[in-house]
This record gives sequence, structure tokens and C-alpha cells, in this order.
Amino acid sequence: MRSMVLSATDISEIKEAIAYPKGIVIISHRNPDGDAIGSSLGLKLFLDKFGHNSKVILPSDYPGTFHFLSGIDQCIIFDHEQAKSKELIAAADIIFCLDFNSLDRVDKIGPFIQDSKAKKVLIDHHLDPEPFADYVFSDIHASSTCEMIHKFILDLSEGEKLDPEIGEALFTGLITDTGSFKYSTRPETYTTAADLKKIGVDDYGLQDKIFNTVTEKQMRLLGHCLANRMEVIPEYAAGIIALTKEDYVSFDIQRGDTEGIVNYLLMLQGIEVAAFIREQPTIVKLSLRSKGDISVQEICRNHFNGGGHKNASGGAAYAKLDDIVTRFKTVLPRYVNKRL
Ligand code: 5GP
Ligand code: MN
Repeated sequence: MRSMVLSATDISEIKEAIAYPKGIVIISHRNPDGDAIGSSLGLKLFLDKFGHNSKVILPSDYPGTFHFLSGIDQCIIFDHEQAKSKELIAAADIIFCLDFNSLDRVDKIGPFIQDSKAKKVLIDHHLDPEPFADYVFSDIHASSTCEMIHKFILDLSEGEKLDPEIGEALFTGLITDTGSFKYSTRPETYTTAADLKKIGVDDYGLQDKIFNTVTEKQMRLLGHCLANRMEVIPEYAAGIIALTKEDYVSFDIQRGDTEGIVNYLLMLQGIEVAAFIREQPTIVKLSLRSKGDISVQEICRNHFNGGGHKNASGGAAYAKLDDIVTRFKTVLPRYVNKRL
């Protein structure tokens, strides 16, 4: 498997480039999650210590859960401020691309990144990174992009610039991308967590703010998914939850309301593949999760125009909900051996 590390030369070139105030733009993927937001804000807070006034641009809005993170209110949402975003990207000296592996993950921003004269630095942990950046730091074994940003700061020999606010942003990605250290961990994940706790991150408080702030509506939606929308296919160790567009209306489902629901399927005894399929206004979106050797990345890449990680991937299709559920069930036997 591929692992792309920044060389000592890359590191010293980047160190030189950020030493004096510059136009820096940090971009992450659409429907940003805790890792996308945490890595972007952590890097921004770090860079601003050098006198930069770096800007974080996100293709689409972020879930309200993360409102407490320092600097989040200054994030620019491309959907809302297109002209300003384009101007910043065109004028940037450096663009950091965080937590995504291909330009189609940033929607309409992609061509502007491509056309920009800025030096581009990709820091990401997804499979199959596209070669669009000048510097590529890709580590598919990292738990999160936040873990990689921590390493990046240490590699720059700037560890003393870490502070509790940067730590809180980075710890956010660690816990959201690992389900609070339940999966995708490696020894470095825990050394990163230990280092961030040492510099003053209130990890209990952070877990509480992120995971114990579910609204009544979200909790009832979860109940509806489990009671009325769940299908279990024991012979292929699979569980499916499919939400209709009527569900979107009756529960007034907004961005972030469905976060984490897919993981409940993997709590079922004997279930190793989970599919959460939802019929949004223009597109059917899938979130797949798996255990062990079953690669949902291959399923997403081969059948649903998507990708991600081996055990956590997503995709989308312009089709009817029932057709996508059927397509998932049809291809499943190619990736999971039949259980006796
Ligand atoms: P989620 O299911 O939580 O939206 O995403 C799971 C993982 O798959 C994340 O790492 C995310 O970046 C990736 N992912 C989600 N949707 C897509 C997609 O449409 N295309 C690709 N390439 N990756 C996706
Ligand atoms: Mn991530």
C-alpha cells in the first residue's frame, strides 16, 4: 500500500514558505465532518501564529455541533460566498487541501484550485490520492487528517506553537474519525492524543460537546431508522437503513442530523457490512461501513461513484432509492462470502 511522506526537502521548503505572512487558503471537502473542520481550524490557528491571516474555505456548510471550535465562525462557505472564495483562491500563495483525495470532493471549487498559481499542499488519509498538488502528504494508515496535521507541525519543528485551542481542533478529528478510538487507530493515534492532552485539551469536555448534544429530533430520527427503516441480511452479514425523501420532510432532516446512524448497524451481532442509504432532494447518498477485510471502498468505487477508506466509504448516485438499495444487495455477494 502507498504511503507518501513529505521529504526533508519538502519540509524545509514549506517551512521557508510559511515563515513570513502570505496569502494562505485552507480547503476541505464538502459536507465537512469533524476531521475536515478540526484539521482546517487546527492548521489555521497554527499558521496565524506566523502572522498569516489564513482563510478556511469549505464547499458547503458545517454541522452545528462544531460551533464551539475557535475560528469556526470565520470559515467561508463557498456555497454562500462564491465571489470572495474565488478571489481568495486566485490570490493565494499557498493552498492547503485537507482530508480529501480528489478535486471532485470539493465540488465547484475544484477548477479554481487547479487554475490557481498557488503552491498546493495536500494532507490526507484517504485511499488513491489524485496527483494534483505540488506537495503530497498522504498516509492511508493515519486515523485522521488531524493526526497528520499534528505530525506535520512536529516535522516543521514547531511543536512549541501547539496550544489548547489548536489541540481541541485536532482532538476533534481524532475522536470523530475513530468513533472515540474504537476503530482506525494505530500507536501514533494514541501518542497524538496523549500529546494533545498534555498541552491542555479537555478531552472529556470535548467528547461531551461533540457526542452528547444530540437533539430530540435527531434521537427520534434514530429511533425511526432502527424501528422502521432497518433491514438485516444475515446470510451476507449486512444491515441496511434506507431513508426516503418523505422521511426527510416529516423529520425535517437537516445537515448533520443523520451523522453516526450508520454505525448502529455494526453493533448488531454477526453484522460486518453496514449501508445507510438516503434519498436526498436531487441525489441518493450512501454511507458504507465494514469490519475487517471487507472493503467498502471497492464497493463505493466500483458501483456508487465514490470512495474513502477500506472500512468507511461513501458514494452517491442519481437514481431512485429502491434501485440503489437493489444495486447494493445485488453486488454484495461479490464482496462478502455467504454465511452458512
Ligand atoms: P460518510 O459516509 O461519513 O459521508 O463518509 C465516509 C468516508 O467516505 C469519508 O472518509 C468520506 O470522505 C468518504 N466519502 C463520502 N462520500 C464520498 C463520495 O461521494 N466520494 C468519495 N470519493 N468519498 C466519499
Ligand atoms: Mn478524515
